[in-house]
Amino acid sequence: MGKTPLYLGFLPRIYSSCASYNYRKSCRLFFCSFSSRPDLSTLTMTGPQIPDPPHVQADSMLARRFGKETVNYFSSSPLNRLSFLRTEHPFLSAAIKHPGTRFLLLKDLAPLARSPSELYFAHYDEVKSIVRPDIYDKSEEEMLKEYDSRKTDPQLIFLGVDEERKNNAMSWKIYSGVPYFALDLSARGSEEQQAHAKSIVEALEAKGTKFLQSRMIMTLPADEAAIFAQARALMDWNMRNTFCGTCGHTTLSANAGAKRVCPPTDAARAAKGKPIERPPCNTRTTISNLSFPRTDPTIIAAVLSADGKRILLGRSKRFPPNWYSTLAGFVEPAESVEDAVRREVWEEAGVTLSRVVIHSSQPWPYPANLMIGAIAQVSDPAHETISLAHDPELEDARWFEIPEVEEALRTGTSALGDPPGPEYKEGSLRIPPPTAIANQLIQAAINSEYVSGEKTSKM
Ligand SMILES: [Zn+2]
Repeated sequence: MGKTPLYLGFLPRIYSSCASYNYRKSCRLFFCSFSSRPDLSTLTMTGPQIPDPPHVQADSMLARRFGKETVNYFSSSPLNRLSFLRTEHPFLSAAIKHPGTRFLLLKDLAPLARSPSELYFAHYDEVKSIVRPDIYDKSEEEMLKEYDSRKTDPQLIFLGVDEERKNNAMSWKIYSGVPYFALDLSARGSEEQQAHAKSIVEALEAKGTKFLQSRMIMTLPADEAAIFAQARALMDWNMRNTFCGTCGHTTLSANAGAKRVCPPTDAARAAKGKPIERPPCNTRTTISNLSFPRTDPTIIAAVLSADGKRILLGRSKRFPPNWYSTLAGFVEPAESVEDAVRREVWEEAGVTLSRVVIHSSQPWPYPANLMIGAIAQVSDPAHETISLAHDPELEDARWFEIPEVEEALRTGTSALGDPPGPEYKEGSLRIPPPTAIANQLIQAAINSEYVSGEKTSKM
């Protein structure tokens, strides 16, 4: 492997491949513990463990100082996104028709799958009735110039290239691997488009595949979960932005699904006898010329008491009895991650924090969150007093002694709707399982080596 920017960016994945490919450990799965808007209460599933750290074999100064990196579920995709190729239409045009290329098919954001633990990836032959072969033959400039809102194409998104897949790989310049796209088969667009989508869906369902209808899909192996997360987040954003947020006219997908633009002309207007030019729109004249996919940052924090011997956890009304998790909430505009942690913990539990340290993060494609996990501490016991009076979001918040939390990590983890393990003692603390970033934060917060930086016999 050469020392190109590509490899510098992608090296961790190569190191990890032997460890995380075919990673099919079965264990209880779970989620983050949002205490606010996203509703996770319906989640009851089993599935794979979180991905391995990408640099598991690598030695570095930072790894020696901070230890093993935590990699959360939905992150660590096997795909190299090659984002700079999204505007290279000859690449895209060749990639969609390449026999090795794989299409993840979504219908109303539900992915087509062979089973709840295996996605179905289609080939071009299976979708060619809806993906015209010349869909990427023109440059974006030409597409904009010829824009006609009467003509529709299904949403297509270039996700990246799996460089580990050598079989049927496509080579482009110095890059080689199997390209991945996401394709929308929802009932959208022209009647013809909808008819094609319907017949593709019928043909694939006749083969025994199904669109996974779960509200939250957490049953996939880690690699597929990361690919699905990217596809779902981008598809959802495209579907919500078919009209310009500034002038209200239709938008056009660009950058292979990673950008939307407001075209200056529309041939459909000319057909109605109107000027082909649309009314002026600020998105075409200022730096806000572009509309890119959004990611909403959310904080989630494990909070330690001043003496480091207790941890603050809270519960919402929809949690089962004895079930607690870390506090969470959205980062607001013009707020740092650290400020957001301090504000949320104070608003929800009345506790005043001092130092906040960012630990790890978890993409959460429901619809577009990035959960930023932190560990924080109170500096003065006087600031530990819990009050639920500010924000009525939590039903309860409590300080738990670390041995009780350790016991819960050992015996009391499960998905929300699932029972805890056989060693669980009725009435004791229950918490989310390892696939939830909440669990990872709790583990890190009570790991004295992680928190103090000093080696102890405990680990
Ligand atoms: Zn506009």
